[in-house]
Amino acid sequence: MIPLTIENVAVAAEGTLHSSKDLARQVITNIVTDSRVFEQDAKATQTVFLALKGANFDGHRFIEAVLKSGCVAVVVEQFNAQLNQNNVAQIVVQDSRVALGKLGAYVKQIVAPKTVAITGSSGKTTVKEMVAAILSGLGKVLATSGNFNNDIGVPLTLLRLEPSHEYAVIELGANHIGEIAYTTNLVKPDVAVINNIAAAHLEGFGDLCGVARAKGEIFSSLTSQGVALYNKDTRYTDKWQWRLVDKTVRTFSCFNEADCYSSDVNLDQLGCASFQLHTTQGQCLIELNIPGKHNVCNAVAAASIALEFGASLADIATGLAQMKPVKGRLNLYQLTENVKLIDDSYNANLESAKAAAQLLSSYPGKQILILGDMGELGTQARSYHQQVGEFAAELDIDTLITLGVLSQSACDGFCAKKPVNEADSSQHFAHRDELLHHVYEEFNQLLSDSEEQLAILIKGSRSAHMEHVVKAIIEWF
Ligand code: ATP
Ligand code: MG
Repeated sequence: MIPLTIENVAVAAEGTLHSSKDLARQVITNIVTDSRVFEQDAKATQTVFLALKGANFDGHRFIEAVLKSGCVAVVVEQFNAQLNQNNVAQIVVQDSRVALGKLGAYVKQIVAPKTVAITGSSGKTTVKEMVAAILSGLGKVLATSGNFNNDIGVPLTLLRLEPSHEYAVIELGANHIGEIAYTTNLVKPDVAVINNIAAAHLEGFGDLCGVARAKGEIFSSLTSQGVALYNKDTRYTDKWQWRLVDKTVRTFSCFNEADCYSSDVNLDQLGCASFQLHTTQGQCLIELNIPGKHNVCNAVAAASIALEFGASLADIATGLAQMKPVKGRLNLYQLTENVKLIDDSYNANLESAKAAAQLLSSYPGKQILILGDMGELGTQARSYHQQVGEFAAELDIDTLITLGVLSQSACDGFCAKKPVNEADSSQHFAHRDELLHHVYEEFNQLLSDSEEQLAILIKGSRSAHMEHVVKAIIEWF
């Protein structure tokens, strides 16, 4: 973070400062919301603790502990008259979540890096990593770490900005209307991007039109010099057109001509794509090191963003080739000479499950899809699960094994589409241990033929915790 005095923090948070004059002038270099930082960090006297309140927690309960660890300034919602103003500065705000947002926005405004905000139903983190990989060839980049993409994660990300950062690549996620309008207003991006619209977090948005309207909020804080970028292949783009009347708009596409688009896509043996990238500056060959045809769309999005920041085609090709897989997103493990495992356990929705099934179907030999429940799909959840099962059967995937409750419908959809004798080993399980027992037996049988190639792909929503299945299978091999 940039160094700020406690007084500055109070002004930026629009809070009331209760502090001695000396303490008010003390410089701090960090603002945190997690009290455990003080257990590890020696710089307690330079760190402000901001007490957040949520449905199930209240950061104010940790004030005493952080002060004991050496913290000298807190942002709180209630003034505590028992604390001595000479030792502790209290910044009292009405709503600490809003104060956190204001602080993040303040730091962003001071550092003023070239900034992109990225939203969409799938691929936000992947596009973010791709853009960061490209731009890091041009200057110092701050990118959202992991999935810190909500109303708390975004300001915490902005607070990490330092004067040396030239670019900020910020992921914006949402599970309710208004969340992106709020976070994008903190970020005030130069470029705002919608990667795609799909059935994800439907419980908060109602239907796909609701998803599109909510993602469209990302364009609400663009300045007149800002650039709106969106995926031309996606449906419901009409839901945000009204926001773009006075904006510079550019599009990208995987299938059609757009300002930036792909053609001649080829997948290598590992499922990694190479393709021709077409831009207003010319065209070039892109070779990706991460599997999945859908990553072509993500790469085209990333290239479009990088072009807005002055990257050359060579910068884009080099950056994308260097991009490393993101944990839990189509991570490929070659377990033995003949056995591949693809860990896509990080998350799932209808489109990403289909994309994963598509990748699996491109591998030689037997293909086993292990699918956990996909969460937050609202009233149509059963039907979406069934669609994934049917889609996997249409792709001729050999076996679908499901875990959980809703994914029973995926298994039913799969088995209904498969000839009876081919769906034998496809089964649904309510318990992980039972599933593992079944797959180990299946592996034993398949591996008795030493020539047989096998590809296993594991996917499910965060709540399904399919990473445990991944770990167990890797250990078994
Ligand atoms: P979250 O909403 O959880 O933050 P995200 O939008 O950041 O997700 P990623 O983490 O990049 O998305 O990818 C999540 C999963 O979605 C991956 O496992 C991948 O299989 C799939 N995916 C990524 N990009 C796309 C895409 N363009 N189309 C369809 N599926 C995709
Ligand atoms: Mg993400």
